[in-house]
Amino acid sequence: MRASEATRISFDRAADQLDLSESMRRLLLTAKREVQVQIPIERDSGELATLIGYRVQHNDARGPMKGGLRYHPHVDLDEVRALASLMTWKTAVVDIPYGGAKGGVSIDPAQWSQRELERVTRRFVDAIHDLFGPDVDIPAPDMGTTADTMAWIMNQYGRYHGFAPACVTGKPVEYHGIPGRDEATGRGVGALTLKLLSRLGRRIPGTRVAIQGFGNVGTHTAKFLHDAECLIVGVSDAGGGFHRAAGFDVLELLRHAHAHGGRLEGFTGGDAITNAELLALDCDVLIPAALGGVITAANAAAVRAPIIVEGANAPTDPDADTILEGRGVVVLPDILANAGGVTASWFEWVQNRQHYQWGINRVRQELDRILGEAFEQVWQLAGSRKVPLRTAAYMLGVGRVARATVLGGVA
Ligand code: NAD
Repeated sequence: MRASEATRISFDRAADQLDLSESMRRLLLTAKREVQVQIPIERDSGELATLIGYRVQHNDARGPMKGGLRYHPHVDLDEVRALASLMTWKTAVVDIPYGGAKGGVSIDPAQWSQRELERVTRRFVDAIHDLFGPDVDIPAPDMGTTADTMAWIMNQYGRYHGFAPACVTGKPVEYHGIPGRDEATGRGVGALTLKLLSRLGRRIPGTRVAIQGFGNVGTHTAKFLHDAECLIVGVSDAGGGFHRAAGFDVLELLRHAHAHGGRLEGFTGGDAITNAELLALDCDVLIPAALGGVITAANAAAVRAPIIVEGANAPTDPDADTILEGRGVVVLPDILANAGGVTASWFEWVQNRQHYQWGINRVRQELDRILGEAFEQVWQLAGSRKVPLRTAAYMLGVGRVARATVLGGVA
């Protein structure tokens, strides 16, 4: 299923519950602007390469548009479009004053040197610098991009528009970033997992967790849940995964990944498994934290975890959602579960604009408060309307965007 089709189905389920008119649905589903640009660069070898970059600015009814920048070979306009709309609902679910956007370049960053990636990023900014900025659209990291990428964006943007650190978030702490942004998505995934476990009346210590993806989101989620006395029994990345029924020493996993360019390959503290086996692992909580579309109608019946927490964006197809719901599997949806990243990005943007810095404790405290409030609202709505958590989260997000659209006026 195409990514935009999948997000459309989730939108429609909520729009039906909200009784939204056809005209409002059409307005909310149409992106404000979509751009595709050519990125010609010279590789280290002297060879010329031409890449394609995308930025989709979906909706700004609630504020400047906000969303990550993904470097991955599967990036295409349809995926970026779907992810941009998710950002609109996500910023509304956590009620921060932003709209939604997303960008991407179709590239496998593992095949390119740092200097090449820097050139790609700077050329991309050359092509779109007039279309984003602190009050318009603010990029951030996503799969395949890092704090370094964000620093290059800020620097290149500044060459055209002057000093404007708030034009991008997720920057290095030493270069106008903030402590706590790096960990925020994983911390949020972990903290919301604990909230969900408590609401479901399950004991937290000893909860067995499997995580797909061991990048920014996966590593911080693993660390947070390990610190909360959960057992991380499965982990994986693009190269495959590992299983240890008694739980990994997470610090050992992190040390291994750090020493091997972020990869798990060669880890000796567990049994090797495939990514398909990881998704079907015997555990209490499954956390997809890598690609979208990994839980489908074809493998949903094989998922043994009774709880799924979506660290990744759009990891579960709507058909799989229906199968999981029928089996009583509780799914905490992406637009709530991984909203910690954009929330901390908002803190970074606020501090950049005020030329002021909060400490890490304040960042964590505010993050936990905002995510906790959003969780309660979604949980209550799901209970009162007897709908799955995903539909409740969409109802909250889509409803807020629809109201802002009406209040702002469209005539
Ligand atoms: P990352 O690039 O830091 O890490 C991605 C991880 O996924 C790596 O370990 C990589 O090896 C693994 N991976 C890639 N292809 C895979 C495959 N086919 N099978 C299994 N693993 C694979 O990316 P990230 O920032 O951690 O993002 C992960 C997910 O979380 C994405 O869906 C992203 O959109 C979402 N997300 C990220 C943030 C953020 O702040 N970084 C915020 C919200 C949502």
